[in-house]
Parts: sequence; structure tokens; C-alpha cells
Amino acid sequence: MGKAPVTKTKPDSREPGGTGDARKPEKPKKSYRPFIIQAWCKKCGICVAFCPRQVYRCDDKGVHVDKPEECIGCRFCEMHCPDLAVSVQERDAAPGGKSS
Ligand code: SF4
Ligand code: SF4
Repeated sequence: MGKAPVTKTKPDSREPGGTGDARKPEKPKKSYRPFIIQAWCKKCGICVAFCPRQVYRCDDKGVHVDKPEECIGCRFCEMHCPDLAVSVQERDAAPGGKSS
């Protein structure tokens, strides 16, 4: 009795390179633009505390958007600002919107 033939598993031809999951097409990544209306801001720091991505920076002159590229659009800052001084906009918003 001879040896059983060794079968190799072929990469799935539906997947580029045979790896990854073909059922999960990659969505285009959205980007956001947070900004602070300085005239309305009382520098309480609530937005800084709630932001999970450390987008804001606080110094002796107030609160500033330091890393806008880190914003994930969760709007925690916007929801918690007591003076409605924060606004978060999608960068790829439809024409007519305030996007960059
Ligand atoms: S929560 Fe609003 S008022 Fe407070 S620091 Fe942030 S932007 Fe200013
Ligand atoms: S939307 Fe979320 S991630 Fe973006 S600045 Fe506000 S709290 Fe931070």
C-alpha cells in the first residue's frame, strides 16, 4: 500500500492574492472637520475630556483643534458642549453643505 497523495489547498480565486475576506468590501473612509466657535467657547474643557481621539488641545489661550485628521465623527464633543460652540462636519458632505 502506497502513501496517500498530499493535497494542497489552493487559494480562493475570488480573493485577490487568495487572502482576506471577499465578503467584506472596504468602505471609503469618511473624514470629519471639527471646529470651535471661539466667541462662544468658555474654555471649560468638556470637549477635550470627552474626545476619545485627543483631537483637541487646551492651552492658556483656550481650546484648539489640534489633530483634525484623528476625528472619527462620534460627535461626543458636539453633544456635550454646553455652549454649542463645537461643530463637526463631514468633509465629503454633499454640495451646498459647509464642507472642505
Ligand atoms: S465644551 Fe464647548 S465651551 Fe467647553 S471648551 Fe469645549 S468648545 Fe469650549
Ligand atoms: S467628533 Fe468625536 S473624535 Fe471628533 S473631535 Fe469630536 S469627540 Fe473627538
